[in-house]
Amino acid sequence: MRITRRTAAKAILGTAACGFGSSLSPAITSAAEGASEEHVKTDLCVIGAGSAGVGAALAAARAGAKVLLVEREDIFGGTSTNAWVHTWEPTSGADGIPREIYESMKANPLGVTHADYAKGAPRRGGTGLPFEPHVFNYVVRDLLEATGRCQTLLGTTFYRARVEGDRIRAIEAWYPGKHLVIEAKVFIDATADGDVCVDAGLEYHMGEDPKSRYNEPTAPADARMTLNGMTLCYRITDTGAPQKPYLPADIPEGLCPHGVHIVTMPNGDHLLNVVDMLDGNAVLCTEYSQLMREGYHRVLEHFHWLQTLPPGEGNRFNGGKGYGTWCIAGVAPRIGVRETRRILGDYVLTEHDCQAGARNQPHKDIVAITDHAVDIHGHGGRLYEVPNGPYGVPYRCLLPRGAANLYIASRAASFSHIAASSCRLCRTMMTLGQAAGNAAAICVKHGILPRQVDIAELQAALTSQNVAIG
Ligand SMILES: Cc1cc2nc3c(=O)[nH]c(=O)nc-3n(C[C@H](O)[C@H](O)[C@H](O)COP(=O)(O)OP(=O)(O)OC[C@H]3O[C@@H](n4cnc5c(N)ncnc54)[C@H](O)[C@@H]3O)c2cc1C
Repeated sequence: MRITRRTAAKAILGTAACGFGSSLSPAITSAAEGASEEHVKTDLCVIGAGSAGVGAALAAARAGAKVLLVEREDIFGGTSTNAWVHTWEPTSGADGIPREIYESMKANPLGVTHADYAKGAPRRGGTGLPFEPHVFNYVVRDLLEATGRCQTLLGTTFYRARVEGDRIRAIEAWYPGKHLVIEAKVFIDATADGDVCVDAGLEYHMGEDPKSRYNEPTAPADARMTLNGMTLCYRITDTGAPQKPYLPADIPEGLCPHGVHIVTMPNGDHLLNVVDMLDGNAVLCTEYSQLMREGYHRVLEHFHWLQTLPPGEGNRFNGGKGYGTWCIAGVAPRIGVRETRRILGDYVLTEHDCQAGARNQPHKDIVAITDHAVDIHGHGGRLYEVPNGPYGVPYRCLLPRGAANLYIASRAASFSHIAASSCRLCRTMMTLGQAAGNAAAICVKHGILPRQVDIAELQAALTSQNVAIG
């Protein structure tokens, strides 16, 4: 089945298959149930080692907590490394752990494209900061190991939360052949889909919020199930010799939208992000393997179009030279998903926050700032710069309603659909993870729960780690 807007829309009305979420296949679930349980105890369990999870685990272990980091993939970085979104724009609020990781990647001669961190801010004339995913992976591994307090379980999938009242007592996770039961004082859900929160029965929203919900200036009148478009990123390389264009007969020309962001990797390859390659709603209804198949077809069609554009005037790519001598060097191992669930927290960040700017926000518990544009891809898409400079994200956005010992850090934190489109970027997620990790370590140190954390103590820890909070 080809994924069109019509099939994606139909699917949200209720088919079973879905390209995201924590569920194991029935065969694996019964294998997990059959395997004997292995019990592990720790202070803090972080689930998901993407941008937010890495920031959280590193900050908490450095602050003294014993951490267990659970990640279903084989490398650190999540969307950044697995979906090949390995380019950042380090604008306001990116001077904590994101900067430290970037500076460490520079030690590898082919780690980063630009040595100057400040050069990455596109809205200040920069070009983004591309880096190699494998270099990120090893830098993060070394930083986590250096803490001496973080144990990492890669290739391990969370699939169930054990809940008692308002507490998560343990999570269950599956590493091939092992049914792990991980008990912790505090948990951080950094899965990007809010898998732990949802399994614990907590409330979430998905799609566009209606105007009546938060009275946001650009919200539609009615709720709409429209998710930001998805992209299978790919990478091309210059062979130096003319290449024979290739498009299999069953892939029609014009299959893929052609709008594309291109950045240059440290070794000279180009990394391509075809905006809105796939309808965002397809993630709700399509099995993951089908999404990958469709994405791959679109990559082939997109590159065929790009490669056969004649060089010269009118070809705006590669300095007018076009891509006649280039070939596809690789396709990301995972689809880049921009949006799924957003867990409801004690506070919901909205477009009012994005527009107010930190100076005008009333919040006393800001733990990260950011200034990326409101940037919605796909249906009803829009892009505008935030008008009053950097705005803050309150600590309360990390506290899921109804859970006493759980944080939600990641793009699934407590944001409105519009606010999420501005603050979901890698460095902001990593910084929010850094805030959640520091806060969790404070909980462990004082034997308290997340809502009892002294905000001044948390903010002091963050500012001492170069995190801007105002
Ligand atoms: C195509 C595309 C282009 C983008 N462009 C940019 C850009 O230019 N700059 C920018 O800064 N941002 C960009 N973004 C946004 C940004 O990449 C993401 O919002 C950000 O990476 C999300 O980080 P996260 O920590 O919330 O989630 P992720 O990085 O997705 O991490 C979640 C982690 O949880 C793991 N996980 C999930 N479920 C389970 C489970 N059940 N058990 C164990 N582990 C689990 C996943 O494997 C993953 O490692 C883009 C996004 C996309 C899709």
